[in-house]
Amino acid sequence: MKLPDEIAAKIKRPRGTRDLMNEDLRYFDFILGKAKERFEQSGFHKIETPLFEHVEVFDRSIGKETDVVSKEMYDFFDKGENHVSLRPESTAGVCRAYLENKMYAGTLPVELWYAGPHFRYDRPQKGRYRQFYQLGAEVIGESNPAIDAQVILLCRNILKDIGLLDSVTLQINTIGSREGREAYCQKLTEYYAGKDRSMCDNCLRRRETNPLRLLDCKNEDCVILADMAPKMIDSLSQEDKDFYKEVKEFLDALGVEYVENPKLVRGLDYYAHTVFEFWNGSEGAQNSLGGGGRYDYLIEQFGGQATPAIGFAFGLDRLVNEMEDQDIEVPTGETTDVFVAGLGQEAKKQSLVLIDKMHDVGIHCVGAMGKPAMNHQLKLADSLKVQYALILGELEVNEGVVLVRDMKKGAQEKIPQEEIVEFMLKKLGNE
Ligand code: AMP
Repeated sequence: MKLPDEIAAKIKRPRGTRDLMNEDLRYFDFILGKAKERFEQSGFHKIETPLFEHVEVFDRSIGKETDVVSKEMYDFFDKGENHVSLRPESTAGVCRAYLENKMYAGTLPVELWYAGPHFRYDRPQKGRYRQFYQLGAEVIGESNPAIDAQVILLCRNILKDIGLLDSVTLQINTIGSREGREAYCQKLTEYYAGKDRSMCDNCLRRRETNPLRLLDCKNEDCVILADMAPKMIDSLSQEDKDFYKEVKEFLDALGVEYVENPKLVRGLDYYAHTVFEFWNGSEGAQNSLGGGGRYDYLIEQFGGQATPAIGFAFGLDRLVNEMEDQDIEVPTGETTDVFVAGLGQEAKKQSLVLIDKMHDVGIHCVGAMGKPAMNHQLKLADSLKVQYALILGELEVNEGVVLVRDMKKGAQEKIPQEEIVEFMLKKLGNE
């Protein structure tokens, strides 16, 4: 059906969004189901924070100089002149909820998981959408490096359950505590001074605003510069180094393989110590399926007491793309077992009642209320690949029976109406 041009220009999806359905949604639900099992067995509770928050929630935590806040936020003034933004990620919102709901007064650590849409105004391409879906978790209130290893293991187990473990590499690094990082940023700025001609425009800006990000630029010349830059680990305190060493020891004990990547810094301000990402083999901007890290300063940045925390998020869209690319199958959705075909007004009424009764006992059953001719109805039954069609014509109505047709064998039998539900339950139960 073609809409008039002037309407078609507007009655369509905004750029970078998708209508999720059929196959894609089956993969989404499969991943969510697997992740939920893993979260629940580890004692995590689900949290749903608002899809939008006051802009300050993101400004103060993620950092004004990050791409996410400075370029990609879907922020706007609502009708009450509140400056709000659709959430670009969930860690900030979850920490805001932790403080606002005084979760710190309960047992620590607080372990929460979430899943849902997030929004970033970026240039759309495969694997990068303006509305995308993240699935993630946060552990707030515990500083032991064993937690870092446990959180990484949880991610790995989710990847294992959805069949992606063998195709991803776990990249890890430490960015130390604030003091070490400040010293390192100073060194980096000095190293990059006078190298303007080999740096891209973005990096020239990053040198002033967010020097750590100089390390993960994808521009060819910048990659060469970053490879030769001073290493973070040399600027860190012994305590920071010991923390990292312990994380690695725990990972080794768990048999978790990892690649140490000194250039991995993650884009957001609130990280400290452990940072990690899961890559689908090769390097590149769109190859991160998920990542996370420790963010011991975030709650303090909100004005709360210093509270250690760690979290991660997977990009659901990217996990789905990856599974599809690798031909990983997921179970097909629910099937319809029974089709009710009714001919005539009275039969239609009885069909409606019959379908309702079937649903009450859990039988997957549909009918074709809008199709008058029996052969059209049975064609539909065929296309739905149901096992049985229940036929209610005028004759059957008068006799108080239902004709049960086995769609594969073509055999038919007459069953009294009051026995039909019981009969179908037995039939389906036997198969
Ligand atoms: P981040 O919060 O940037 O670390 O993102 C965590 C994960 O979310 C990434 O590894 C991606 O898998 C996914 N992700 C981030 N931004 C997008 C986007 N615009 N479209 C699709 N997935 C995204």
